[in-house]
Amino acid sequence: MRLEKYSFGVGDRFAHQGKAQLNAMIKAKQLGIDIVPVWNKSYREHSIVHTKPDSVRNEADTAVKELSWQNSYYVDADHINMSNVDAFVDASDFFTIDVADYIGKQSPAKDIEVFVEKYKKYIGTLNIEGINEAIEITEELITKIASKVLLAVQQAGKLYRHIESKKGNGDFVTEVSMDETDLAQTPIEMFFILAAIADENIPAQTIAPKFTGRFNKGVDYVGDVAQFEKEFNEDLAIIAFAIKEFGLPDNLKLSIHSGSDKFSIYAPINKAIKKFNAGLHLKTAGTTWLEEIIGLAAAGEQGLEIAKNIYENAYQRFDELCGPYATVIDIDKAKLPSIDEVNSWTSPQFKNAVTHNLSCPEYNLNVRQLLHVGYKVASEMGNKYIDALEKYEDIIAEHVTENIFERHIKQIFL
Ligand SMILES: [Zn+2]
Repeated sequence: MRLEKYSFGVGDRFAHQGKAQLNAMIKAKQLGIDIVPVWNKSYREHSIVHTKPDSVRNEADTAVKELSWQNSYYVDADHINMSNVDAFVDASDFFTIDVADYIGKQSPAKDIEVFVEKYKKYIGTLNIEGINEAIEITEELITKIASKVLLAVQQAGKLYRHIESKKGNGDFVTEVSMDETDLAQTPIEMFFILAAIADENIPAQTIAPKFTGRFNKGVDYVGDVAQFEKEFNEDLAIIAFAIKEFGLPDNLKLSIHSGSDKFSIYAPINKAIKKFNAGLHLKTAGTTWLEEIIGLAAAGEQGLEIAKNIYENAYQRFDELCGPYATVIDIDKAKLPSIDEVNSWTSPQFKNAVTHNLSCPEYNLNVRQLLHVGYKVASEMGNKYIDALEKYEDIIAEHVTENIFERHIKQIFL
């Protein structure tokens, strides 16, 4: 199974927007951009909304069938580890192996020694096409990197082989993700991570490093865009080099776990993937759920009522809902409007506050982030919420498609 050059990860908490999401890929195709959809849902999301991986498979298959989508599509077991992978095996054909927990933990000294011995040949000055400055590599540097990442990659190898034993060789796409850590990986760390991945015989087709800056959920990038651009370009250069050096799959590409809506880095990404003729996997999730809320608000009447209920409930349960996402949100509580204020909002007011339009003065990134983590509230509403999704399907679908196509796909891939 060979992942295409451009792929787009779509998440869908309530499994009702599969067609609307796929329509964005269809619109892209009409512009001559081939992007394959990957429906992703993590163990965390499944746990919060009480769903099983089968539901994602079902949603993807149904959307593809109903819209007669002829290209490939995938179902991603997002951020799995050894403790939860088994539930995903049947439904998924894309596995995001998460080894972030092992980064910084040491593998046996003997393994580090063997690794350093093997890669001693890179000691000295390394010039890589596409990177301006030469890279100085010392034995200490290789040892330091191996101490930090080798165990994590060994764990990825174990998990890969576990999946392979169940699904068979070559029957799925493998991603290795290290994004949920505090410290960004440098391009040279990426180089030795890829060496270790090759040593473990993991046929990784995508790799998700932690990039510099903050990737808060559902809102724009926070950080030094120029620094991001430099690292991103260097990562692309490293990957192209490592494919040749280590015999990794030649379609290996970067995966960006965007947390959705990192608009200010989209232009540098667009430029870089064109410069390097590189592929890209962009993972999003919560942006679709927020479009559901926006669509409900825009529908008015009962839709707006539900959107307000969700805000009210989320506001009251701030700590509980934000807890699991503490490291990936930054909400200024003082800037959240009161429940009374939001309850007085008209449709356009609600919609403008949540819609990710940076030039709209009513846009409130605090409201947006709180609602982002508020999907648990919608889940608890049960049929009331699902019925509203069905009742206002048309207007919601319009928002979901337009968001993915206009704000994401066109900015990154066109
Ligand atoms: Zn991630």
